[in-house]
Amino acid sequence: MKTTNDKRYQALLVDLDGTLLDLDHENFLRAYIEALAGKFSAYLSTDNFIRHLFEAINVMLENHDPQKNNETVFYEEFCRRIGQSRRQIQPLVDDFYRHDFPKLNSWGSEHPYASRVIKKAKNKNLICVLATDPVFPAAATLQRLSWSGLSPADFQLITTMENMHFCKPNPAYYLEIAEAINCPPHQCLMAGNDTLEDLISSEAGMDTFLVEDLIFDRGNEEPTFTYRGKLQDLARFIDGLPESS
Ligand SMILES: [Mg+2]
Repeated sequence: MKTTNDKRYQALLVDLDGTLLDLDHENFLRAYIEALAGKFSAYLSTDNFIRHLFEAINVMLENHDPQKNNETVFYEEFCRRIGQSRRQIQPLVDDFYRHDFPKLNSWGSEHPYASRVIKKAKNKNLICVLATDPVFPAAATLQRLSWSGLSPADFQLITTMENMHFCKPNPAYYLEIAEAINCPPHQCLMAGNDTLEDLISSEAGMDTFLVEDLIFDRGNEEPTFTYRGKLQDLARFIDGLPESS
């Protein structure tokens, strides 16, 4: 673990769920999937919906084709599996994110230091990226962002299934961000609560900050990181950084 913070970063990448957003992840996911399955009840049973959803998500996670964004990969697989066209199911999906998804907000709440982290990063002229797993459509990510008390204007880039071609924990996801913001990976700091999905950014050449408030430790091996601490410590750490030019 480094003890000095004299490194000149140009960008702060920060995870949303369990990092900037205080989220009851398990219950949120259960409620999310159940509600979405309910929307598709005219087409298939909840069990079949969940099976096809996860299979399609797996195909999206395994995608290595840089020509296809996550959205395309997911819907190609999901629609093929349930035997419906994208055009047919899109109104259901849109209706879900407009009317049902916002009701899941009881599972998330503002973290008192989230806005402070972003404010301090802006004070240092850091490029701010909301590096949330791009398995979600923008509609779902913008909603969750609003639960955290932050706004889309706080970020130069928000990663979603529509604008990214890889997912966490593929290091290519982090390289794609670095390229999108035109910043070398070694000048990026990635902060997140997941010992695999966020810390793997080190394989893309980034420094990492493990945010421990709601740590998601998969317990496979001892996590390696550049820095660690609570979100409050991340705010303090950024405050001590030299200003980015
Ligand atoms: Mg997270």
